[in-house]
Amino acid sequence: MASIPPPISCRAYAKINLGLRVTGERTDGYHEICTVFHRIELFDDIVLHASDAITVHTTDPAVPSGEANICHAAALMLRERLDLKTGVRPGVHIEITKRIPVSAGLGGGSADAAAVLRSLPALWGKSLPEDDLRALALGLGSDVPYFMGDDSALGKGRGEILEYFRLDVPFAILLCTPPVQVSTQWAYSRIVPRPPERLDQEDLRSVLLRGISDPLLLCEHLVNDFESPVFLEHPLVRSVKESMMRDGALFASMSGSGSSVYGFFHDTDAARRAAAPLESLNYRTFITPPHFRV
Ligand code: ATP
Repeated sequence: MASIPPPISCRAYAKINLGLRVTGERTDGYHEICTVFHRIELFDDIVLHASDAITVHTTDPAVPSGEANICHAAALMLRERLDLKTGVRPGVHIEITKRIPVSAGLGGGSADAAAVLRSLPALWGKSLPEDDLRALALGLGSDVPYFMGDDSALGKGRGEILEYFRLDVPFAILLCTPPVQVSTQWAYSRIVPRPPERLDQEDLRSVLLRGISDPLLLCEHLVNDFESPVFLEHPLVRSVKESMMRDGALFASMSGSGSSVYGFFHDTDAARRAAAPLESLNYRTFITPPHFRV
């Protein structure tokens, strides 16, 4: 009888968007975007246990367990893809300890799904070519392909045309998620796409690389198109950005379609001081130290 493989543990790190422009509408219902994805030190813990069936359990009551969880779809897709080639039909029990706030512009579900795609083949004693895994990732969602790599990345198209690059952020990053849920669909419905300008595309990466030594450049050029409609509808989200800027942020912005806001600070102590008034309102805060890398 074959022995049961030991469980595999992995971390699914959240992302923030450093700039996010919506540059066009597509005939397939998606939007063209241009953004830089960047990981922060905030992660869900995922443990994969060998099992006969595919099952999922999460610790966060706001996130569905079972078939409605995106990790269930990831495991199912992978099993079907492997079946095509090998004829095996294994199962897995996926245990997710959720820390990444949900529906908060941090890509939590996408990060979890990518972690499953990356680690599950090993539990099943199989491997898949990188391109096949990336195709499965895109089938799960526009943000999932980014999480298949470890570095920061310039993302175009739906977010799946990716150019990975090393971005060393020498600042502490304070993230704050106020108690506001923003539907991504609603946020897109409030946006009039703008055709790319020079700084929106290739230059977004160079603005960032230069802005790291001159954060004023970031304040001038790093724009999230979702901020205006979200700030208008949810003044509380705007107040988080204003609070960070007042309390010493060199640059602050909303991530994705919100409601999380992040700020760059000289060091961890400065980020901690800026977090205090937000925590006193019971908003969730997380600090990523300078030079963090996954
Ligand atoms: P999106 O732009 O896709 O909304 P987000 O980062 O703002 O991304 P997520 O935290 O990924 O939001 O959650 C989006 C939705 O996906 C929620 O409605 C949530 O219930 C559902 N979901 C399914 N599986 C998961 C999971 N493993 N983790 C988080 N959310 C999940």
